[in-house]
Amino acid sequence: MLEFEALTGQKTPSRILNTFLRKGAIPHALLFLGMEGVGKQAAAIKFAMACNCLEPNTETVSSRSNSSSDKDSALTNIKNKTPCGVCLSCRKILSKSHPDIIEIKPSGSYIKIAQIRDLCKILALKPYEAKIRVVIISDVQTMNAAAGNSILKVLEEPPERTILILTATEQSDIIPTIASRCQFIRFSPVPQQKLAEMLVETKGISADSAYVFASMSNGSYTKALDIGSAAVLNKRDWIINETESLSLKETGNCLAFAEKLSKDKDVFFEFLDIVKIWYRDIIVFEYHPENTIFFDLLDKMQNASNRHTTPDLLSRFDEIESARQNIRANANLRLTAETLLLRFAKNNDE
Ligand SMILES: [Zn+2]
Repeated sequence: MLEFEALTGQKTPSRILNTFLRKGAIPHALLFLGMEGVGKQAAAIKFAMACNCLEPNTETVSSRSNSSSDKDSALTNIKNKTPCGVCLSCRKILSKSHPDIIEIKPSGSYIKIAQIRDLCKILALKPYEAKIRVVIISDVQTMNAAAGNSILKVLEEPPERTILILTATEQSDIIPTIASRCQFIRFSPVPQQKLAEMLVETKGISADSAYVFASMSNGSYTKALDIGSAAVLNKRDWIINETESLSLKETGNCLAFAEKLSKDKDVFFEFLDIVKIWYRDIIVFEYHPENTIFFDLLDKMQNASNRHTTPDLLSRFDEIESARQNIRANANLRLTAETLLLRFAKNNDE
């Protein structure tokens, strides 16, 4: 019952997917929505396994009487709730060698029409061996109009014993006619506590470090896995050192730092996340040092708290947030970075 949740830390999607399996009523098209790294792909694979697991099921499931056409029978007779992980079908899916579990990802920046044409040729045939063929199309927002139209045709006339699982970050990124034919399942950012536990399990790091890394990863499991390395801590330290030493007297250094941060949006957003935690920590440090997130930097925090006043730090929070909003509204990245750093430098000099 908790398989999906154990995998991704996602309560609501787990509950919905389990309900489909338990009731034996699976929609032909699902749309998994949520930011990158919250377990959409992992849940899709696990769901494909659950649909096709060969392990005998002891549970009795009443079949629905109102949808018993031949074409739909496979979708309504699923009895397994959780995949065993060891049967032939489960193993093939895990090793990506199952002929009926098809994963389509952007080739370069886009999902190309050729990829969808190839898919349509496969879908015109019956599944080779699966009870239910599962097609997982990731990042559907990267499909161009031609590819989108081909997928739309598939959704309008669902192939035999086949479900489509589409994934995307935002519903608004998707062609509305595609979205309207799918059942939505929303994935939330993974809770920090859950991320920290996953890091302890998968990386074998201490609970304290895992908590620091989880705090830095914004609810993304993929990001949390990437983090947890010395390189990430070095980057954090570089960002904090550079930011703390900003000074109007050395405008050239300010602008050079801004240039490095404005290489792309992700780099800049990462900078904003880290600096925000840092400023929050400086405020918290004074009263509750035990509640700081970067608790491995207490000495540095002590020094910084002598340099910054609380009103100054609070105004920096506002500036960080307005920089973030400006970038989301497509403001010039370099200019936004420069403006923000020069403001920080001004406050440092006062
Ligand atoms: Zn199995």
